[in-house]
Amino acid sequence: MATIIDGNAVASAIRDDLGAAIGTLGDEGVTPGLATVLVGDDPASETYVNMKQRDCEEVGLNGIHVDLPGDASPEELYDAIEDLNADPAVHGYLVQDPVPEQIDYREVIRRIDPAKDVDGFHPENVGRLVAGDARFKPCTPHGIQKLLAAYDVETEGADVTIVGRSDIVGKPMANLLLQKSHDGNATVTVCHSRTEDLAAKTRRADIVIAACGVTELIDGSMIGEGATVIDVGISRVEDDSEKGYELVGDVEFESAKEVAGAITPVPGGVGPMTRAMLLYNTVSAASLQESVPVDL
Ligand code: NDP
Repeated sequence: MATIIDGNAVASAIRDDLGAAIGTLGDEGVTPGLATVLVGDDPASETYVNMKQRDCEEVGLNGIHVDLPGDASPEELYDAIEDLNADPAVHGYLVQDPVPEQIDYREVIRRIDPAKDVDGFHPENVGRLVAGDARFKPCTPHGIQKLLAAYDVETEGADVTIVGRSDIVGKPMANLLLQKSHDGNATVTVCHSRTEDLAAKTRRADIVIAACGVTELIDGSMIGEGATVIDVGISRVEDDSEKGYELVGDVEFESAKEVAGAITPVPGGVGPMTRAMLLYNTVSAASLQESVPVDL
C-alpha cells in the first residue's frame, strides 16, 4: 500500500515559509501584487481565478483582478496587458487560459512583461528555463519538484516517464528534471498521444508523472512495483453529488496505490502545489523588481 503524498500539507508549509519573505518585503514598504485577468465567464476558469485571489488574501499579497467580457477584442486585452506591465503595484500577473477564440493566446503571452510573467510561459522565460537559468519555473512542474523533495524521492539517476508534452506541464517538467541540479539529473522519457506501448514506458519508470487529461488512463498494471506516481490530471466527471461532478485524475488511484510506493491523490495532490508556487513566483518577482533580497 502506497504512501499518500499530501499536497495540501506541503503547500501549506511553503505558504508558511513565504510568510517570512512577505514580512521582509513588508518591512521595506513592498506588498507583492498578483493580478489575474479573465476574459469571458468560463465557470472552471472563474473558479481558478477566485481561488488564486483567495490565496493572495490569505498570505497577504495584493490581489488585483481584471475582468473582460467574452466578446472583448484582442486590442482591449492588449490594452489591459499594457496597463499591467506599467503598473508598479503589479509584480506578477497571468491571463487565465483558455481565452475566447478571437484571441491568440500565444500573442497574449508574448506581450506580457517577462519580469512579471509569473506563470513562466513567455518565450524568454521558456528559453531561460531550458538553458538552466530559470527566472520563474512554471508553477505545476515546480510544485511537483517540491513534492518529490518533501517526500525524499530522489530524482538523480531516476528513470522518469512523463505522460503529456504540453507547454505548461509536460515540456517544462521534462526540462526541469533534465537539469544538472539536485532536483534534476533524471533520465526522462516524454510520452504523448502518438507514443507506442505507453504501458512499457510507464512500467519501467521509478517516477511516473501523468499529465494527459485522460481520466484514469494509467492503472495499476502500468505502474512498476514501488514507483512514485504523480497525478497532475484534473477532469470534472458528472455525478449525482450536490456539486454535480467529481474531480478525477489521469491515474486510476485504487489500483495504482496497490503497486506504487507513493502516490498523489486527486484532489489534494498537485493542485494545491500549483497554487502555492504561483504565490512563490509572485514573491520572487516582487523581490527582483524592488531589489529587496528575500530567502526563498
Ligand atoms: P494538454 O491537453 O495541453 O496536453 C495533454 C497531453 O497529453 C498532450 O501532450 C497529449 O498528446 C497527451 N495525451 C493525450 N492523450 C494521450 C494518451 N492517450 N496517451 C498519451 N498521451 C496522451 O493538457 P495539460 O498539460 O494542460 O493538462 C493535463 C491535465 O493536467 C489536465 O487534466 C489538466 O486539467 C491538468 N492540469 C492540472 C494542473 C494542476 O495544478 N493539478 C495544472 C495544469 C493542468 P499530444 O501532444 O500528442 O496531443
